[in-house]
Amino acid sequence: MKEHKQIKDWGLGLTGPTIIAGPCSAETPEQIEQICIEMKENNVIPSMFRAGIWKPRTRPGSFEGIGEEGLKWMEIVRHHLNIPITVEVGNAAHAEIALRNNVDVVWVGARTTVNPFAVQEIADALAGSDIPVMVKNPMNPDLDLWMGALERFHAVGLTKLAAIHRGFSDAYDKRFRNKPNWSMPMHLKRVWTGMEVINDPSHIVGKRDGILEISQKAMNFGLDGLMIETHHDPDKAWSDAKQQVTPARLKEILSAIDFKKPMESEQPSERLNDLRRAVDHMDDQLLDILQERFAVIDQIGAHKREHHLSVFQSDRWKDVMESRTQKGVAKNLSEKFMKELLYCIHEESVKRQEKQLREADPVKK
Ligand code: PEP
Ligand code: MN
Repeated sequence: MKEHKQIKDWGLGLTGPTIIAGPCSAETPEQIEQICIEMKENNVIPSMFRAGIWKPRTRPGSFEGIGEEGLKWMEIVRHHLNIPITVEVGNAAHAEIALRNNVDVVWVGARTTVNPFAVQEIADALAGSDIPVMVKNPMNPDLDLWMGALERFHAVGLTKLAAIHRGFSDAYDKRFRNKPNWSMPMHLKRVWTGMEVINDPSHIVGKRDGILEISQKAMNFGLDGLMIETHHDPDKAWSDAKQQVTPARLKEILSAIDFKKPMESEQPSERLNDLRRAVDHMDDQLLDILQERFAVIDQIGAHKREHHLSVFQSDRWKDVMESRTQKGVAKNLSEKFMKELLYCIHEESVKRQEKQLREADPVKK
């Protein structure tokens, strides 16, 4: 597996959970200073200060960021808070300017992660430095694209890496600005051991209400920190005005969150061990049943081949879906879970029967 350095080993003195706060966009030196002052007054000093210097706006004509000049204002943050600074880079020129201005950490935004050319260009521009890079998930829920971007940085020798979950565009579900998909960061953490994922509730929720709830959820799912857009006068912010919170509100949110401890660091109790053993046993039983079920599926496949029947039989499929979903719901399993489970089993069954057909009649490959 690819070795990388976790946030605590970035040499910035950070200890988890990582809290990143600051405005969506750097606007004026006065704005940056006021945010810092209010953070101090409210005794809410984040692990890192964020500020968008170049803003990837969806539509042209909105505020596109103050540019390099804004990086000079980061000295104000260092003076007041003495914490690391992170900014978004969207192309090679941004990356070079960020390095020249001693930015501590850069992040790649969702609109950039989708584009391997842009990611590679940024990776090449940062290569040779030791700067930590955080990669936001792409706009669409594609784990490979997210992983691929992290891999491009790793491949040029940048090993201080983390990911940020900021939710995904969804054409239909408008409850969120960007719908969270909790299984994706968890999957990323499984396939890339030790990869930390910071959650960005601001861009998920898109408004002030609900940031606490999503932050708590992220902690419950074992994510490793939070990035929360913070502005002293959110209503007057030049970008993302609806979702930014004041430093005072940031303090309230962080105080209300129940930060869970990772269980790995503790000795599990006897009770937990018993329960886990019971689950292990049931998983073995589930696997035995699945093995048996697929053996029967193979026999059905052989029968279909003999009688020239097609593998997919839509009436039967419809019936299986409806009856099993109903039974599952009656057993207190969610409809969504039942449908996903059945799709998964059915897809595997079809694949096996098609493979049988190909093997029996290699010409039809
Ligand atoms: C941001 O962090 O301000 C931003 C533009 O985020 P995203 O890339 O998640 O849209
Ligand atoms: Mn923003």
